[in-house]
Amino acid sequence: MTGRMKRISILGATGSIGQSTIDLVRRDKGAFDVVALTGGRNIARLAEDARALGAALAVTAHDDLLDDLRAALKGTGIEAAAGSAALNEAAARPADWVMSAIVGAAGLAPGLAALGQGATLALANKETLVAAGPLVMAAARASGARVLPVDSEHSAIFQALRGEDPDTVDRVVITASGGAFRDWPLERLARATPLEAATHPNWDMGQRITIDSASMFNKALELIEAKELFGFEPERIEVLIHPESLVHALVGFHDGGMIAHVGPPDMRHAIGHAMYWPRRTALPVARLDLAEIGQLSFRAPDPRRYPALGLARQVMAAGGLAGAVFNAAKERALDHFIAGHIGFCHMSEVVEEVLARQMTCGHAGAGGFGLDEVMSADRGARLCADAVVVERQG
Ligand code: NAD
Ligand code: MG
Repeated sequence: MTGRMKRISILGATGSIGQSTIDLVRRDKGAFDVVALTGGRNIARLAEDARALGAALAVTAHDDLLDDLRAALKGTGIEAAAGSAALNEAAARPADWVMSAIVGAAGLAPGLAALGQGATLALANKETLVAAGPLVMAAARASGARVLPVDSEHSAIFQALRGEDPDTVDRVVITASGGAFRDWPLERLARATPLEAATHPNWDMGQRITIDSASMFNKALELIEAKELFGFEPERIEVLIHPESLVHALVGFHDGGMIAHVGPPDMRHAIGHAMYWPRRTALPVARLDLAEIGQLSFRAPDPRRYPALGLARQVMAAGGLAGAVFNAAKERALDHFIAGHIGFCHMSEVVEEVLARQMTCGHAGAGGFGLDEVMSADRGARLCADAVVVERQG
C-alpha cells in the first residue's frame, strides 16, 4: 500500500462505531482517501464529517432527508444521495476497505455490495453474519475479498489465531460483561425499563447493542458470528461472564495452552486493527495497568438469567435460515421492548415463539439460500414477532 492512499468507505458513519472509525481516520488523514460515508437521520453529523474528511459521496438511509443533506453539503462538491439503493451503490463504489457499521439486518445488502467489488470488509455489523453467514463468506470467496472482524471478541480470536493452525484449536471462549443487570435479583428483571437496560457497565455503545448486552442477545449473536467467521463447531464455542471486560476472548489449543487477548474496552483497538491489518500501528488506546486492576474474574452465565444463549445454540443446530429468523425476531422484540409494548424478559419469549413457528413452517431449516430468501425469512419473522406481541397483549 506504499505510495498510495487507502480508499475507504464507512457505512453507518454517524453511529458509535462509525464515529470511532472517523476518529482514527482524522488522526491519520494523509493515509486515507474517503470515498463514501453513510448515515441515518443525523444529517448535520454526516455532512460535517463528509466535509472534514473530504468524502466524495454522502448518503442518508432516508429518502425524505435528501434535500436536507443536499443543503448541508451545498458548495462542497460532495455528492449527496438517499435511500437503500443509494446505500448499496455507495458500498459498491470502488474502495480498498469498507467499514460495515450499520446496525441491524439493514447492513446486509450494503455489506454484500462491498464484498462484491472486492473491498476488504471490516465487519462490525454482526447481524450480517447471523442472518446470512454462508452467503457472506461465499461472496468474499467469490471476489477474493477479505472479511476482517471488528467485534471486539472476534477481533480478539482473530489476533489469537495469527500464525496458528486452525486444526489445533480445541475451543474458543468469548467473554461477556453480563450487561446492566448481571447482579440484579432474577425476579426484578421482569420490571427492567429500556432506560435501565441501555446503561452499560463498561462499554459506550449504541442503544440497541447496549440493551442486547443486558439480555445477552448480543452474546447470542456473537456465538453465531464466531461459528460463521471461523468455522468452529458450536460445541467448541463457550461464553464466560467477565465483569471487567478486559479479556475479550481466549483460544484454547490441543496442547492445553490458551491464548487470551487483553485490552481496554475501547473499540478503536479492534477498528484500528482491522484498518491497518496486517500491520500493527500505534493507536490512541489506554494502556492497562494490571497491577492497579489487580484481578480478572470469570464465571459461567446462568441460563435462567440469559435464555438468549440457549436460543443461539438452537439456531446453530438448525442452520439454514434460522439465523435470519432469529436476528429479525430479536430486532422486532427489541423494538417492542423499547416502545414499552413488552417487558424485558418477554423479548426472549417472543424470539423463542417466532423460532418455533417459523421452523415448523419450514422457513428456518432450508439448505442453500440467497439474499432474496434471507430477506423473505427476515420479513416473515418480523411479521410473526409482531403477531406474537399482539397476541400477548390481547
Ligand atoms: P449505532 O446505533 O450507534 O449506529 C448505527 C449506524 O447505522 C448509524 O450511522 C445509523 O444512522 C445507521 N443506521 C441505522 N439504521 C439504519 C438503516 N435502517 N439503514 C441504514 N443505516 C442505518 O450502532 P453501533 O453501536 O455503532 O453499532 C453498529 C454495528 O456494530 C452493530 O451491528 C453493532 O452490533 C456492532 N458493534 C458495535 C459495537 C459498539 O461498541 N458500538 C461493538 C461491537 C459491534
Ligand atoms: Mg462484541
